[in-house]
Amino acid sequence: MAQPLRLLLVEDSENDALLVIRELRKGGFDVDWERVFSADSLVHALDRRAWDLIIADYSMPGFTGTEALRLVTARGLDLPFIFVSGTLGEDTAVDAMKSGAHDYLMKGNLRRLVPAIERELREASVRKQSRHMEQRIQYLAYYDELTDLPNRALFRNRLEQALALARREQRTFALMVLDLDHFKEINDTLGHHAGDLVLKQVATRLRAVLRESDTLARLGGDEFALLLPSLAQEGPDVVARKLLEALEPPIAVEGQRLEVRASLGVVLYPQHGASPDTLLQRADVAMYLAKEQRSGASVYAPHLDRHSPLRLSMGAELVQAIASDDLQLHYQPLVDLRTGAVLGVEALARWAHPQHGPLAPERFVQIAEQTGSIRQLTNWVLRTGLRQCAAWRAAGLPLRLSANLSARSLEDDLPDQVARILADAGARPDWLQFEITETVLMADATRGSEVLARVHGMGVGIALDDFGTGYSSLTYMSRLPIDVLKIDRSFIVDVERGTDEFIVKAVIDLAHNFGLRVVAEGVETAPVLDRLRALGCDAVQGNLIAPPQPPGAFSAWMASWTGLPVLLEEGEPPAPS
Ligand code: C2E
Ligand code: CA
Ligand code: CA
Repeated sequence: MAQPLRLLLVEDSENDALLVIRELRKGGFDVDWERVFSADSLVHALDRRAWDLIIADYSMPGFTGTEALRLVTARGLDLPFIFVSGTLGEDTAVDAMKSGAHDYLMKGNLRRLVPAIERELREASVRKQSRHMEQRIQYLAYYDELTDLPNRALFRNRLEQALALARREQRTFALMVLDLDHFKEINDTLGHHAGDLVLKQVATRLRAVLRESDTLARLGGDEFALLLPSLAQEGPDVVARKLLEALEPPIAVEGQRLEVRASLGVVLYPQHGASPDTLLQRADVAMYLAKEQRSGASVYAPHLDRHSPLRLSMGAELVQAIASDDLQLHYQPLVDLRTGAVLGVEALARWAHPQHGPLAPERFVQIAEQTGSIRQLTNWVLRTGLRQCAAWRAAGLPLRLSANLSARSLEDDLPDQVARILADAGARPDWLQFEITETVLMADATRGSEVLARVHGMGVGIALDDFGTGYSSLTYMSRLPIDVLKIDRSFIVDVERGTDEFIVKAVIDLAHNFGLRVVAEGVETAPVLDRLRALGCDAVQGNLIAPPQPPGAFSAWMASWTGLPVLLEEGEPPAPS
């Protein structure tokens, strides 16, 4: 098979050109050639298409081979360049090679032509390959292959540049860290391929929000970072909101539509730090807070820092508050959707910090987890809640207590602790139900489900909390000892808008097939309540019925509870018992 060769001849004599071509065809080349003999036509030919090789006459009237060579190298082209000449003397040959030509040949003796070209083509291809390798190594060192975004190393470079510039010009800039929520579960349940597709789409959407001068990087896993050097027109809060909004439409992956949410942490230079490490670390702290509070985005503040002295002292204060009974437990009713009966209450802890005021439970629960007092907190909730239950029961109110379990509470000795607290409070196991989230289980699925099975075996109920915010499949959940499934508030809100109704319907039907009861949480309006009843939901919880309240207020509410608003119209009697 003839080897194709795209040859550019710089040659004023057509006959000489044909001699060269004939020699090449004899040598097995399928030559695709053109002949030029002026600077202009050479440049034109070089710009118009790609060539494998140039053969130039050394001396032509009005144009020389060395000029031609200079034009080629000036264009940054790495093309084998061979001189042929009728009059080439030894000295000129040396000059020609010095000027960067790859070889020179005498027109009268073209026997060396074919082997010379073969060698040059081989070497050119080796050079090309190693150039590719170098580019690729460069690319891999500074870019993320999957998303084509800058990686951590390049982001750091840009951050250092931004810092230097901002310092010099006394400017401010923002740095953000964005992390997808529950991404691990996408990978675990749909596979890494699906996870990769999600990351790519997330990258595309985020990039679309940003300006040319901004840097979006993938730091690794599902973590992205953004550098916003100019904050003149838009504050970081506006950008943060746009970024989160960009992720709102479901992401279509392999026939599924995934709701992907993210948490964003924001820091500003120079307010929050003056070194790359400090800024990155504090953006992380802010991001974790946003995750914890499910708030989408949060801006760094010193008291958020879990390693800050303040956080440690809050940990100590929390222990103190638990020990001296300074926490409060609020109770929110769960109501049967068919009968209107109050089935039980969810216990929700409250802590009003002497200086910082009321703290979100997610926050002090996390402080308790991080400073090692989560067990005390859980035990305090159980003790307080079960004593309250015993009191209500004594007063004729057979309420069941739902208590939340955080990730660190699923320890091996939980069943023993629970048995002890039940005995101390004079309570029966079936008065109690634990609420756990998918994320809690995912943390250590094997041990978690083992501990749960033991607690369940004692007669304590188990509810799966915040269902739908993770990506665990119901099939997987069916292997766990679960009695109740609580659909997350975010889906329930959307039922009114009609958007998520089919998801809620599917979850309810599937849960029923697995023999689970379904509770909808965060019910705030009567139309939502109506829809949920139509969809076959079993029970509801939410501010429409009653917000979480201290025990006194709750007892008063109970006494006045006459049943669900819409049920009354259907003539169903209220059933507080
Ligand atoms: P959760 O288990 O999902 O608790 C339900 C949350 O939804 C409560 O927030 C409740 O006040 C709120 N809520 C109830 N009805 C409505 C409604 O109609 N609309 C809206 N917008 N919200 C409603 P809260 O009390 O702030 O608790 C937040 C989270 O903190 C809880 O989420 C739970 O994960 C955690 N938590 C609370 N108390 C404890 C506890 O004693 N131990 C543990 N481990 N976690 C707790
Ligand atoms: Ca709960
Ligand atoms: Ca919940």
